[in-house]
Amino acid sequence: MPSIRFNRNRVRLRRLLGIRARLALLAVILVAPLMLERARSLETARAKQIAQASEEFSNLARHSADTQREVIMSVETLLKSAAYIRASAAGVGRSCDLLRASLPLNLPWIRNVMIAGRDGRIQCATMNGFIGLDFSDRPYFIKAQATRGFVFSDFRLAKRDQTPIVIAAYPVSAITGEPDAVVLASVNLEWMSKVMSNLDNRPGISAVLVDSTGTVLAAASDHASYVGRSLDSLPLLSAIAETAMSSTKSEGTISFVAADGARRAISFNRIADTGSRLIVSIDETQVTAAIDREIRTVYLQAGFVCLFVLLGALIAAEKLIIQPINILAATAKRFGFGDWSARASTRLPSEFVPLAKAFNAMAAKLGQRERELVATNDRLTVMASVDVLSGLANRRGFQSRLDFEWMKAQQAGAKLSLLMIDVDHFKLYNDTYGHPEGDACLSRLGATLSRIAMSVAGFAGRYGGEEFCLLLPNTAADRAIEIGEMVRAEVALLALPHATSSHQYVTVSVGMACAEPNAQLAVADLIEAADAALYAAKHRGRNNVVAHGIIEVVESGEPAARVN
Ligand code: GH3
Ligand code: MG
Ligand code: MG
Repeated sequence: MPSIRFNRNRVRLRRLLGIRARLALLAVILVAPLMLERARSLETARAKQIAQASEEFSNLARHSADTQREVIMSVETLLKSAAYIRASAAGVGRSCDLLRASLPLNLPWIRNVMIAGRDGRIQCATMNGFIGLDFSDRPYFIKAQATRGFVFSDFRLAKRDQTPIVIAAYPVSAITGEPDAVVLASVNLEWMSKVMSNLDNRPGISAVLVDSTGTVLAAASDHASYVGRSLDSLPLLSAIAETAMSSTKSEGTISFVAADGARRAISFNRIADTGSRLIVSIDETQVTAAIDREIRTVYLQAGFVCLFVLLGALIAAEKLIIQPINILAATAKRFGFGDWSARASTRLPSEFVPLAKAFNAMAAKLGQRERELVATNDRLTVMASVDVLSGLANRRGFQSRLDFEWMKAQQAGAKLSLLMIDVDHFKLYNDTYGHPEGDACLSRLGATLSRIAMSVAGFAGRYGGEEFCLLLPNTAADRAIEIGEMVRAEVALLALPHATSSHQYVTVSVGMACAEPNAQLAVADLIEAADAALYAAKHRGRNNVVAHGIIEVVESGEPAARVN
């Protein structure tokens, strides 16, 4: 059983791997590597593009961080110069006048510059309404006094209008060496956000500036809502919040898969002298969207190309191989049915033309052979029905003619007569003159009978041995008896010597039977009747004619005998 199943599977596999499938497979094997190579080069280009984008944006981030640093440095410089003014100008009033007069207009991010006294109370401010306010509890105030250096506060909201600001502080004590006032400047974060916009105008990129606690200080205009929010609470950025904030490095890059499944890369840069960091997030999926689309198109193209190549291979196989084979097979089939006139069209693919021509030549030759065979067969059939010695039809030929004439007479309702003619004492003739002479005698008798048959529109044959017969279509009994007598007389007139016969010459006895063929009678009945008449003729002394059922003339003018 398993071997049967195995064989069946092999047959099925062979059928599957027919010419069409093999060609299709070949086509795909040829095309697929080209398409795969194209896809591979695109994948490489994609990876390059991602690397290039990362590089480009980390540079941008660095550049942006530098710009931010410059902003902060400009604030620091301003505060320092204000502190110098304060330190050198004796008296609060004079220093405040100088401060207001020297506030540069080219630093639009500085909202307000103030001087807080040693006790934390604002002594003068470039914006009205701040004088007298107590800043002594502000961490940046305390820190500036304690460290005697530049301090940049964390994110805060301006008390007056709730705009997001950071405060920079520089103590005058850093110059005088004595506990003294602190110069403060509030920095407008909107300006910082504007500086960042050059980072954010590309799809898939977002950039934020965060303070040391992780609160967003600045973001580009399309992410303006991020300002003031904690990094932890922001989508996508929360994942890197901890890493970016805890890193002690001044800059770095982190690559990870975000919760939405998109691959992201994050660059962060620390801004010197502050706790702030600039964070640039790159969505690789968006950055590579164009090339991804191209890759998808290439895969789709590859699919279509393979499909078309497959279809092309199938059509080509059908047109160039299967169809010609089918045409040749159909022609061969017609040859099989003996139709040698069938010809394979030579308008086939050139490789098949020699085969078609060979087919046609073979058909022509076989057709010619068949015609020759038919002719030979016909000749053989004729030969098989002719007696060579007498030149008359032999028994077989005579029988088939008798059957034919019987049927014709039956259809026409005509009479059909039969003469059975036997040479008298022929054994003695042979004994007397020898067999060859006997043959010559039979040959002479055959020629005589042939002549008579022609003259009376009859058909003569050699029935066997020295016995002949003469078939007479459309001939009634009387006329048949006359012809029988003619035969007998003509043989006698030949005067062939026969010394051992009582007649001295070769003579014949004739038995005649006549019938009107019908369904009740058979051909054999006519033969039997003629044979019986011949037997009677012999019995009556030979060299006479006897009709079946009639007695009439016998020898030379005597009345013929009839048997019943
Ligand atoms: P009957 O008058 O009663 O017909 O006597 P018969 O001798 O003719 O008849 P029988 O049947 O006794 O002998 C027929 C002879 O015819 C015997 C045979 O040798 C001879 N014969 C038959 N066919 C041929 C033949 O083809 N050639 C020759 N030479 N003789 C033949
Ligand atoms: Mg005889
Ligand atoms: Mg005989």
